[in-house]
Amino acid sequence: MIDRLSPQARSANMAKIRGRNTSPELVVRRILHSLGVGYRLHVARLPGRPDIVMTGRRLIIEVRGCFWHRHPGCSQASTPKTRPEFWAQKFLSTVSRDEKNETAIRALGYDLLIVWECETSETTALKQRIIDFLALQKKPPLDAPGRPIHQKKDQPLR
Ligand SMILES: [Zn+2]
Repeated sequence: MIDRLSPQARSANMAKIRGRNTSPELVVRRILHSLGVGYRLHVARLPGRPDIVMTGRRLIIEVRGCFWHRHPGCSQASTPKTRPEFWAQKFLSTVSRDEKNETAIRALGYDLLIVWECETSETTALKQRIIDFLALQKKPPLDAPGRPIHQKKDQPLR
């Protein structure tokens, strides 16, 4: 079967192949760094292996590609004209997995900020959103003074 991708699907596909350190995620990481906020990446023990986790604050930032994760109303979230059923199935499974993970993450007491790929080009607005999100920190930090800030990779999350 000839699998012809639209240019948009192809570039989204390439972004996916490039892996998790895609540039939209780097934009968010740079903002957090500029705010002096520490974080951990791709925490495997949390549902969906979330991109950016501020463990002590119980905050998570997920950076989502508009095409694969179907950013509502976004021009990047178009559907390729060929093989519509194939794409519908693929998108449905991605979106339902995202929803499932989101529910599970919130059930663990984390707050979640979704940053869409297209939003990472407006860094000033994005930075403000992140600052607002960090202010959400309702719960007392779990990292009490005197406790080591850096955990070893295999230690369970508290
Ligand atoms: Zn978008």
